[in-house]
Amino acid sequence: MRKVDLLVIGGSAGGILSANTARKVYKDISITVIRNTKTVMVPCGIPYIYGTLKDTSKNIIPDKMITDNNIDLIIDKVTKINKEEKYVLTENNDQINYDKLIIATGSLPIVPSVIGNNLENIFSIYKNEVYLNDILQKIKDLKDIVVIGGGFIGVEFSEQMQLNGKNVTLLQRGDKCLRRNFDAEFSAEAETLLKENGVNVRTNCKIKEFVGKGKVEGVKLETGEIIKADAIILGSGVKPNSDLAKDAGLKINDNGAIAVNEYMNTSDADILAVGDCAEKVSFFTRNDVPVLLASTAALEAKIAGYNVFKNKLTRKNKGTISAFSTKIYGATLGAAGLTEKQAIENNFEYVIGEFNVMDKHPGSLPNTKKIHMKLIFSKYSGIILGGQISGGDTVGEMINIISLAVQQGMTAADLNTFQVATHPLLTASPIAYPINGAAMNAIEKM
Ligand SMILES: Cc1cc2nc3c(=O)[nH]c(=O)nc-3n(C[C@H](O)[C@H](O)[C@H](O)COP(=O)(O)OP(=O)(O)OC[C@H]3O[C@@H](n4cnc5c(N)ncnc54)[C@H](O)[C@@H]3O)c2cc1C
Repeated sequence: MRKVDLLVIGGSAGGILSANTARKVYKDISITVIRNTKTVMVPCGIPYIYGTLKDTSKNIIPDKMITDNNIDLIIDKVTKINKEEKYVLTENNDQINYDKLIIATGSLPIVPSVIGNNLENIFSIYKNEVYLNDILQKIKDLKDIVVIGGGFIGVEFSEQMQLNGKNVTLLQRGDKCLRRNFDAEFSAEAETLLKENGVNVRTNCKIKEFVGKGKVEGVKLETGEIIKADAIILGSGVKPNSDLAKDAGLKINDNGAIAVNEYMNTSDADILAVGDCAEKVSFFTRNDVPVLLASTAALEAKIAGYNVFKNKLTRKNKGTISAFSTKIYGATLGAAGLTEKQAIENNFEYVIGEFNVMDKHPGSLPNTKKIHMKLIFSKYSGIILGGQISGGDTVGEMINIISLAVQQGMTAADLNTFQVATHPLLTASPIAYPINGAAMNAIEKM
């Protein structure tokens, strides 16, 4: 039995940053992080193990991020939380007493409940190096890979596996890939790129069963069509890993996430929760939204680590704006805030501002890429609701300007006139900077 001031369960994005932030704010406390894997994968780097990196060992978050900050690290699995007596029990029969506990147990993949889902070579994506390395070895000599799910995990896996010489089919149940993050025109850009590069993208596909004897051999669709598969990657969504919290008697919301307030406090005064296991509310509507992103986990961890011993009231969670970016076949796509579809669903009256421009000036410079920007503003207040961008590498950070603008409630006028640094080799021209231009396009329509 041991006793720590702060115990953090989980050693990924949410856990590491919770512990590190607490260490910076509370210099003299003892902090321990406990996690149930020997190593921690960079979660967002996982697709790149199967293409660019070709190795799990190149995708590891170094333990020194924890241990260099005077934080103890235990590799063990927490099996029970006793919130009344303030301790946890572990698989190795340890008991750790705590003053404060932060739960950052993340999420687990959802496996579609169809016949044949237990066949060999059907892989969910667990963030575990041993497991992921096993997939790498097993698919090495396989050719036909079917990826299920057209969200960012499915899209990124499809691109990487195709680049690695696999014959990839991407099956998406809905009518568009990436449809949670983007409007149809941006989804279409992604789908075109995938198709042009040889990924067989199939939308509106409903899976009936996985077929095969022992090993998977194909996917049968509801139409009766069978698509050949030597292996299947399941990118069909994730769910909060909240059973520990539930069994401890903490309040769990309807989506299975640990209920938290804006300071990341759970229903127990001494327990906080962050990241994929914790409840997410929309910045705009306060509705519960299933946005499970590492960047959201990082935000929540910074709030929890800061407030854990003293609620300083200076940091609170205003809700997620789902800031997200991805890159496929050299093209970057970024989104923050509401899409147009979400604005309609939530009854916002809105105005769209669009702008297309080259990302260097003059556009005849080498390696210039076209930027397509779409901003969405509230029709009456002019406040930005969201934005989407496609282009080259430059838009990867540009979407973070939009993210900040959304969080600060900036208006179309603010964004039309905000001051920008420009350079021919680095940015669009100052007389045609995309954020300024898209904002003006919206103002013209207001
Ligand atoms: C393939 C893939 C690509 C992604 N790409 C992106 C991206 O580009 N951008 C982005 O923002 N997000 C991305 N995400 C989402 C991102 O990975 C998650 O949002 C993020 O990992 C959440 O961090 P977390 O710390 O909350 O949970 P997790 O990363 O799930 O970590 C949970 C931690 O808890 C530990 N744990 C769980 N149960 C126990 C227990 N009982 N005892 C001890 N330890 C326990 C685990 O070992 C782990 O350390 C991606 C996810 C995947 C799967």
